Amino acid sequence: MTQTVAFIGLGNMGGGMAANLVKAGFVVNAFDLSSAAQEHARESGCHVVDSARAAVVGADFIVSMLPNGTIVESVYIDGDALLDVIDKSALVLDCSTVAPANSRRVEAEAAKRGIRAIDAPVSGGVAAAAAGTLAFMCGGAEDDYQAAQPVLSAMGSNIFRAGDAGAGQVAKICNNMLLAIHMTGTAEALQLGIDNGLDPKALSDIMLKSSGSNWSLQKYNPVPGVMDGVPSGNNYQGGFMVDLMLKDLGLAAEASTGSKSSIPMGAAARNLFNLHKRSGENVGALDFSSIIRLYEQGE
Ligand code: NAD
Repeated sequence: MTQTVAFIGLGNMGGGMAANLVKAGFVVNAFDLSSAAQEHARESGCHVVDSARAAVVGADFIVSMLPNGTIVESVYIDGDALLDVIDKSALVLDCSTVAPANSRRVEAEAAKRGIRAIDAPVSGGVAAAAAGTLAFMCGGAEDDYQAAQPVLSAMGSNIFRAGDAGAGQVAKICNNMLLAIHMTGTAEALQLGIDNGLDPKALSDIMLKSSGSNWSLQKYNPVPGVMDGVPSGNNYQGGFMVDLMLKDLGLAAEASTGSKSSIPMGAAARNLFNLHKRSGENVGALDFSSIIRLYEQGE
């Protein structure tokens, strides 16, 4: 029997994810506050409805892809209060990047009402969301994680369970803190080479085959012209915004305060991205690999 997914939040990520659920044969009842996002979802075969509450009625799965934890808590608990109208047999998958505490609250409130819920934040960005190749890092009960597989595998190709409620968010925060650290380190090394007369393409080729190799060099070179099809070649448009990286580094800082963990490199990366954001108008909307501009400015 055809299963129904309610999809809330059809932005850069959610739009592509909802389209892949339609392609996989789900009926998708979709809602977003933005009329442009609604139109895009309609074009990809979603049934666009006029409220989040209308979307969840009778749905087997609820997927949300929203900007932050305050909005997620509002949609599920305090504002739209979707948990009060979602069917008891449904499974909630919140794929937004939020604090582990936001996920734990939503999942505990769902459990009080007899509804199953997991956190399932993603890695991979807008291109992977459109291609259906996201990585999902999930937190929640094993049975609920297993029950979510048909939906997750329609949107992603690498699916993990990190642990109980909120664990998916912890994994996401750790991963993105490391991403920020190796991107700033890669930018720093490349700019040092450039300032000392090296061709960035030649230096990149050398480091790719040496001990400095890492994902930023392999897939996302920050120097314009070194690599095709990455934001550095497109004036840092598209990709993963500085503002979103700052949100994730803020979540890492918050998590480290709670656990009394030392994150000196993460804190340095957060400060560098903050300085970068403040270095010009609209820098927050550029792709995060534009951090190399901060090093260029030191010339
Ligand atoms: P986005 O701003 O493009 O999309 C969010 C959408 O949510 C918008 O269309 C907005 O209108 C909608 N929205 C906001 N409040 C709403 C409400 N109350 N009800 C219904 N819709 C509402 O953001 P995005 O880039 O798609 O990111 C979404 C989430 O995914 C964020 O948590 C982000 O951190 C995470 N994420 C993004 C990327 C990326 O590369 N963009 C990668 C991994 C994870």
